[in-house]
Amino acid sequence: MRFHVVTIFPNMFDSYFAESIISRAIKNKLIEIKTYSLREYTKDKHRRVDGKPYGGGPGMVMWVEPLISVVDSIEKKLARKKGSKPKVVIFSPGGKQFTNTIAEQTEEKYTDIVFICGRYEGIDARVKKILKAEEWSIGPYVLTGGELPAMIAIDAIARRVKGVLHDEDSLEEKRVASHEMYARPEVYEYKGKKYRVPKVLLSGNHKLIEEYRKKKENIVGKK
Ligand code: SAM
Repeated sequence: MRFHVVTIFPNMFDSYFAESIISRAIKNKLIEIKTYSLREYTKDKHRRVDGKPYGGGPGMVMWVEPLISVVDSIEKKLARKKGSKPKVVIFSPGGKQFTNTIAEQTEEKYTDIVFICGRYEGIDARVKKILKAEEWSIGPYVLTGGELPAMIAIDAIARRVKGVLHDEDSLEEKRVASHEMYARPEVYEYKGKKYRVPKVLLSGNHKLIEEYRKKKENIVGKK
């Protein structure tokens, strides 16, 4: 699985993807994450990528031209290598809510995915039309840019790639998942009060433990 991220802040991705499971997946060549600095694709002599909106209004809008140019260049490179077309996604607070189901379907269907991170007031609407892109929202709130949404989507999709999680059972859909988990100590004392691990989890009775976890099951990760 290859992730191609178009952004005006490529350095933002270095730190998050240099750690932990994602970093190991990159080293093991299970996934690839490539960032594209949008300013390298603008024809503007000051390397600008945005301008005032037609019709007026606050803020700036990201120009269509550099965005089409960068995605064209990614598509050309991919076509030369393997003849496949990537899926293109624009992050937008007004887009379709990103879910575990979307992460799963994306992992199953595509080998290459282009993520376009917006900034300012967003992206010229023609980009979506020309690229036949989908718009994804990461949640019902407005962020300053599409970089965090891209990191979240990459993380959620990448953990589904075979081999990325050492233990396949770690995928929530493949087990009875509970959001209430406990580890040592059995009793934790804080400000005079004792906080205990539920007895059933110490019982060694797998049937009872499974029933208990089912009761506490978290709907996230369920289809
Ligand atoms: N008024 C603009 C709109 O509704 O699209 C807000 C743009 S926001 C300040 C700048 C960029 O951040 C957006 O173009 C998008 O790429 C990203 N963004 C902000 N919130 C987001 C969310 N909840 N999900 C996905 N992307 C988001």
